[in-house]
Amino acid sequence: MLGEFFVETSQVRYPVMVKRGSIEQSLPELIPRKAHRVFVITEEMVWQMHGHRLAPALAAFGDRVKVLHFPGGESRKRLSEVEALTDQMVADGGDRSSVVIGFGGGIVTDVAGFAAAVFMRGVPVIQVPTTLLAQVDAAVGGKTGVNLVGGKNLVGSFHQPVGVIIDPDVLGTLAVREVRAGLYEVLKHGVIRSAELFTMMEQHPLQILGQQTPYFDQAIADSVRIKCEVVSADEKEGDLRRILNFGHTIGHALEAETQYKLLLHGEAVAFGMRAATHLAVRLSTLEPETGTRIIEAIESYGAIPSLDGITSDALMARLISDKKTVGGEVHFVLPTKIGATTIRKNVPDDAIRAAIEASL
Ligand code: NAD
Repeated sequence: MLGEFFVETSQVRYPVMVKRGSIEQSLPELIPRKAHRVFVITEEMVWQMHGHRLAPALAAFGDRVKVLHFPGGESRKRLSEVEALTDQMVADGGDRSSVVIGFGGGIVTDVAGFAAAVFMRGVPVIQVPTTLLAQVDAAVGGKTGVNLVGGKNLVGSFHQPVGVIIDPDVLGTLAVREVRAGLYEVLKHGVIRSAELFTMMEQHPLQILGQQTPYFDQAIADSVRIKCEVVSADEKEGDLRRILNFGHTIGHALEAETQYKLLLHGEAVAFGMRAATHLAVRLSTLEPETGTRIIEAIESYGAIPSLDGITSDALMARLISDKKTVGGEVHFVLPTKIGATTIRKNVPDDAIRAAIEASL
C-alpha cells in the first residue's frame, strides 16, 4: 500500500508520505504558517526541473520564501558549504522561527538537515527527496551531516525532520544508473526485513527498472515503511538499526578504495551485499540456494562498473579502518533467510577474503 507511514521515537513522531502528487497535496500542510522564513535548500538543476511543483506549498509565504542553491556533489558536502548556507540564511532574515526544506538527492537532504540542525541551535526541516536513494534511505531517519578530509559523514547530527514527502513522479528525470543504485538499497530492505518485497523485486526487475506502476511505487513504499519501522524501533543505531548496514561493511571499503569516484553508493552496497551473502553461506548462516537467489536478484538489476584492478588485499586493509568497526572489530550483517539477518563479529579473515574474491 502506498500511503502515510510514521517515524515514532521517544522524542518525535512525524509523517512520511509516499504518493504521486504528494508535493502539491501534502507539503502545504507541513509548513508552519507562522514561519518567518522558508528556506528551500536545493540544487539549481533540481530546482529548474521540479521547483514549480512546490508552488502550491510556497504560495502562502510570498517573499518569506528564499531558495538557496547548493552546488551538489560529494566534494561540496562540507562544513564550509553549511557555513555559506547559514550565513545566507542570516542575511535573508532567518531567525528561530525559520523552516528549512531539503529538496534534492541525499547530498542535499544531508546538508539541508545538518544546516537546520545547527542554525540557531536547531530549526525544523522538511525533507522532499528527489532521488530514489534519498527517498528510500537518506531522507528518512534523521541522520544528517557532512564529510571531512578524513572520511565521509564524519561530522553530523541526528535531527529528525518534521515530515518527509516522497513523490515518485520526480524520479522520471533521474539517470537510469541512479535509479538502479537506489534499487539495490530497496533490495537490501527486502533481504533484511521483507520476503514479500524481495520476491516482488525478484519477479519484476524490468517493470521496476522501468518505473512502472504499481511495482515501482510499491517497492518504494515497502522500502520506506521498513526504514520507518527500523528507525522507530532504534533511532540511534543500536543493534536493530545496524541491520540497515547489510552490504555496507565491504561496500564502504570498496567506496574508499575507489576514492568515492568509480561507484555510486548503491553500487558499492550491491557489491557489499554480494560479498556478505557469500560470507553468510560460507559461515552457514544462510542456505546456499537462498544465497544464489539473493545474488541473482542483485544481478537482475544490472551490472555495477568493472572492478578491474581492485584486489581482496586492498579491500581487507580498508576494512580495518572502516568507521563501522566497533572497538576494533569489524561487524557483518549476514542474512539468515530472506527477510532476516544476524550480526557477526570475530569473522575469520580467510572467510572474509574468500567472500570478497568470490564477488570480484
Ligand atoms: P546525490 O544527492 O548526489 O544525487 C545524485 C544525482 O542525481 C545528482 O547528480 C543530482 O543532481 C541528481 N538529481 C537529484 N534529483 C534528481 C532528479 N529528480 N532528476 C534528475 N537528477 C536528479 O546522491 P544520492 O545518491 O541521492 O545521495 C547520496 C548521499 O546520501 C551520500 O552523500 C550519502 O552519504 C547520503 N546518504 C545519507 C543517508 C542518511 O541516512 N542520512 C543514507 C544513505 C545515504
